[in-house]
Amino acid sequence: MSYIPNENRYGKMIYRRCGRSGLQLPSISLGLWHNFGDVDEYTNGRKVILKAFDSGITHFDLANNYGPPYGSAERNFGKVMREDLSAYRDQLIISTKAGYDMWPGPYGNWGSRKYLLASLDQSLQRMGLPYVDIFYSHRPDPDTPLEETMGALAYAVHSGKALYAGISNYPAPLARRAFSILRELGTPCLIHQPKYSLLERWVEAELMEELEKEGVGCIAFSPLAQGMLTGKYLKGIPEGSRAQRADGALQAESITPEVLDKINKWNGIARERGQTLAQMAISWLLKDPRVTSVLIGARTVEQLEENLKAAYNVSFTQEELRDLNL
Ligand code: NDP
Repeated sequence: MSYIPNENRYGKMIYRRCGRSGLQLPSISLGLWHNFGDVDEYTNGRKVILKAFDSGITHFDLANNYGPPYGSAERNFGKVMREDLSAYRDQLIISTKAGYDMWPGPYGNWGSRKYLLASLDQSLQRMGLPYVDIFYSHRPDPDTPLEETMGALAYAVHSGKALYAGISNYPAPLARRAFSILRELGTPCLIHQPKYSLLERWVEAELMEELEKEGVGCIAFSPLAQGMLTGKYLKGIPEGSRAQRADGALQAESITPEVLDKINKWNGIARERGQTLAQMAISWLLKDPRVTSVLIGARTVEQLEENLKAAYNVSFTQEELRDLNL
């Protein structure tokens, strides 16, 4: 049966302006790094994507190498676009990235113009789209001049293959230079995508002020530290979880006794707030209005539904904030 979206979807989500741009993003966005590759069940991934859209999630984040295998998340997302969402393309913000290993040889990795522009063409082909909304440099390249990498992003925008340019994993000093180059090229940086969670807070001291000053949005990736901030690892490593799967990026060794101790304490605070740990971890990021969106992953519809509730409880007492600083 063909898909008909929930008519009330826009009443269910809170949208935030992305920096000083004209674009608003849902406070919770869905990323397709894991759970949408050819190793995963297509019908389940489709269900999660459509549930997200029905809940007001308008932003889906991809990259050339999401899968596994590389490229398969874009191909599977393209299928959902074609078969279910094509009528709603103008209601969607779709992003992709290039910067990590994608194909063999010297032109399939890092930040050259050669790689970025070829990769964008391949991404568009896999998704069956004429353009993406945001095209990112996925990580800085120490060996390519920043002017070249930013020039490729600007060209992607000028050529109509992307509407906005973004950067990810750039430390603050490099981000500042990137913003300046992109502005000069007439394609101001829309958004920065850093790793940010209760367990990973470098952006607070180093990046947020810069983003605010420059009018650049912030979308926080791995807000649940790949699932560690859900309480699921408190009693060992459950079957089917990311830390248990051979193709999962979460190393079981990262779940140290120190991490478990923090998770236990945070779990207690979440319970007192009437939230699950996953919800509190997302709410905690959204307490800062400079965070445009929190970019979650979800393996099941149930996880997605649980996490979506986080957007409605984003104020914290001073005492809670202090206790969360472990
Ligand atoms: P999260 O930190 O949100 O982790 C998602 C995982 O946590 C899920 O796949 C699931 O794993 C588990 N989980 C989620 N919700 C629940 C819940 N309610 N209860 C129990 N377990 C839950 O995000 P990701 O690490 O997946 O990253 C999100 C997105 O960020 C990516 O898809 C990608 O778009 C982007 N990203 C960008 C990067 C970059 O370099 N720019 C790098 C990494 C991510 P499980 O399988 O164990 O159930």
